[in-house]
Amino acid sequence: MELACDACGNRYADRTHCECGETLWYPLGETRLVDDPTNVWSFADALPADSPTGLETAAGGTPLVRAPRLDGYAGLRLWVKDESENPTGSFKDRGTAVATAALRARGEDAIGTVSHGNMAMSTAAHAASTGMDCVVLVPDDIPEERLGHVARYDPDVYAVSGEYGRLYEDSFSLPLSFVNSDSPLRVEGQKTTVLELLSQFDGTPDAIVLPVSSGGHASGAWKAVRELRAAGELDNVPLYFVQAAACDPIARAYRAGEDDVTPVDGGETVAYSIANADPPSGNRVLRAARDTDGAVLSVSDEDILAAQRALADRAGLAVEAASATTLAAAEALSADGELDEGDDVVLVATGTGFRESPPTPEEIAYVTREELSGLLSP
Ligand SMILES: *Cc1c(COP(=O)(O)O)cnc(C)c1O
Ligand SMILES: [Zn+2]
Repeated sequence: MELACDACGNRYADRTHCECGETLWYPLGETRLVDDPTNVWSFADALPADSPTGLETAAGGTPLVRAPRLDGYAGLRLWVKDESENPTGSFKDRGTAVATAALRARGEDAIGTVSHGNMAMSTAAHAASTGMDCVVLVPDDIPEERLGHVARYDPDVYAVSGEYGRLYEDSFSLPLSFVNSDSPLRVEGQKTTVLELLSQFDGTPDAIVLPVSSGGHASGAWKAVRELRAAGELDNVPLYFVQAAACDPIARAYRAGEDDVTPVDGGETVAYSIANADPPSGNRVLRAARDTDGAVLSVSDEDILAAQRALADRAGLAVEAASATTLAAAEALSADGELDEGDDVVLVATGTGFRESPPTPEEIAYVTREELSGLLSP
């Protein structure tokens, strides 16, 4: 299995990272859109695995929902790619399904990941379904009750002492295949978010907006665009990447015109799934935004929460705060004139909001049965 560096073109047979420091990925191929994609495996020709079983067969195939009542919010024609419909509620299932299938095809029967969020959940669920062992490394200061969503799939959870940020790198020298946020296999699976939504869309949208943390999903999105271009299937589609302003190292580097992301002292944000102060594929995200004529921007927690409410009460979608960053960003891009009134914009709602505690209801009218008929008559 040869991997390539998209920054300097080097290829290697036996490394996870390039000598230049960048995360490697599978060499670019040519990929076609398909009619009516049903799941990740509709794009099997473009993936490094082809014999899924169990939960792996359920990843992807999520709806692209037109959200007309959100148009007024941002002045655009908005569509939502609803990734909450994946088996464990986030797009991570796309990458996990491809990774577990590929590892098994190589004769491996175990998988590891460094995560205590959606990626851990997704990896543990796929391992449970396919009979693989699963190791999940979490920080040792995490409250045990926060691990329930992961623990229900019964992986081996190790709470590791020391600096958690370094575990990502250290995991690659452990005697087990670790599929972390921007691992090559995960990136391949996560190409399918964009392959699928472009297959579902009639024509080409004016922009795709997705939240970014490590840069693994963004890498998949960009690789999808480049592989479609290589096959002559697509001219271009601008990719806009969003971070929370409290922790936005990639957006900062983008604004400063830099090629390298500098780690920040990340603050707290409601968008906890995208708070990565030292994103391993951050530099690649900068290349992806520039290559596609998109951008990297950040939005405030206040705007994220307002967007999350609007996605619920104007589109009927309960999404994670991380996913709501996309609507806040679309509104900012429209206000700045970067996107034009009436542009077709796809927001990638990366994860379900059903795991977050919902807001307390504001208005509930307590009535008698007798009063009901009078209250409901027009
Ligand atoms: C993991 C995740 C992200 C960020 O994806 P990266 O590949 O780490 O950039 C965004 N939203 C949700 C809901 C996630 O689980
Ligand atoms: Zn390199």
